[in-house]
Amino acid sequence: MGLGSPILFRSVARAVPSRFATLTVPRILYERMVAHCREEWPKEACGIMTGKGGVARRAYALRNVHAQPAIRYQIDPADQHVAMQGVLAGQEELVAIYHSHPTTVAYPSRTDVAMARYPEAAYVIVSMAGQEPEVKAFRITDGEVAELPWRVADLAGEWVDLRWLPERE
Ligand SMILES: [Zn+2]
Repeated sequence: MGLGSPILFRSVARAVPSRFATLTVPRILYERMVAHCREEWPKEACGIMTGKGGVARRAYALRNVHAQPAIRYQIDPADQHVAMQGVLAGQEELVAIYHSHPTTVAYPSRTDVAMARYPEAAYVIVSMAGQEPEVKAFRITDGEVAELPWRVADLAGEWVDLRWLPERE
């Protein structure tokens, strides 16, 4: 007899992240996120939100280091490392990844879909194409895009802007 089913071991080894049905964003973080997208225009802004159970409690404005920042985004790896510390330590969850579309609609581009690596998180897109920003949330799973309900709530939230930190090595 062997020592047990390897399939059973695999099934317990990896915790499945919670898949919330609605994204909740504290008003202060929503307002800062939109301001961040305005400040970066005509470049794409990017950031993440962490929290628990679909409720964002902290948002990080991160640097877009893509060579063509007007049409693409790539989160600065050092910024991402700092912002993800609580998530990597298991203290909180990655709730949302946000970026702006300076001149296009609030829907994931083909590149956004191809690059999506976090099926448990909400992908928030802020379109700056119209008079007013348009914000939509999506879940992207294995190339499939589904719109995700989201709401602004009167909750506390911490805004962390990593864009102006001194250059790191
Ligand atoms: Zn995009």
